[in-house]
Amino acid sequence: MSQTLTIALTKGRILEETLPLLAAADIRPLEDMEKSRKLVFETTQPNVRFLLLRGADVPTYVQFGAADMGISGKDTLMENGAEGLYEPLDLNIARCKLMTAGVKGESLPAGRIRVATKYVNIAKQYYASQGRQTDIIKLYGAMELAPIMNLADEIVDIVDTGNTLRANGLEPRDFIADISSRLIVNKASMKMKHVQIQNIIDHIAKAVAVD
Ligand code: AMP
Repeated sequence: MSQTLTIALTKGRILEETLPLLAAADIRPLEDMEKSRKLVFETTQPNVRFLLLRGADVPTYVQFGAADMGISGKDTLMENGAEGLYEPLDLNIARCKLMTAGVKGESLPAGRIRVATKYVNIAKQYYASQGRQTDIIKLYGAMELAPIMNLADEIVDIVDTGNTLRANGLEPRDFIADISSRLIVNKASMKMKHVQIQNIIDHIAKAVAVD
C-alpha cells in the first residue's frame, strides 16, 4: 500500500506547463484546477493530491513537510533558501533570467545605491559580491516603476524577452542567474516515501528530456 502523497503547485502559466509533466507520471487532477476555487485537488491516483498555492509559499509547505513535493521557481528557492529540501530535477520550464536593470542610458551614482526588488536576499548578496553598498527597498510588484519615479537607482527582477523593461524606458544590465522551475522534495518524505517519489521523479525526468 502506498502512502498519501501531497504535491504543491501554483496557479497560472506554470501550472499549464506542469500538468503535462505530472500526466507523464500518470497523475492528473480530477477537475480543472484553473477554473475551480478549491485549493486541494484529488487526482487520478487516489493516494496523490495536489495543493494550489502562491508560488512563494510552495517551498515553505515542502520544507515543513505539509507537502511532500512541489514545483517552485529557482528565484523563489534562491530568495527563501532551500533548507530541508532536495531539488532533484530542473523541469526546464518557465525559463528566464534574474537581472539588474535601470533607466536606459543612465549610469549608477558613485557610492551607495538604492535597489528596489522583491528579491531582497538575492539583491543583498549580489551587490555585496560586487563590492557595492546598497539600500534595498522591498517591493511586491511593478518593479519597473521604481527607477522611473526615482525611488531606486536599479531594480532586480525577472527578465524574459526584456519587453517589459524596454516598454518602461529601462535597460537590462547585469546577469545574476538563470531561472527555471524545479521539482523540490521534502527530505524526510524522500526517505519515508522513497519508492513512490523516485518513481514520479523518473517519469517526469523522462518527460522533461524528450521536450
Ligand atoms: P519580459 O517582458 O518577457 O521580459 O517579461 C516580463 C515579466 O514577466 C517579468 O517582469 C516577470 O514579472 C514576468 N515573467 C517572465 N518570465 C517569467 C517566469 N519564467 N517566471 C515568472 N515571471 C516571469
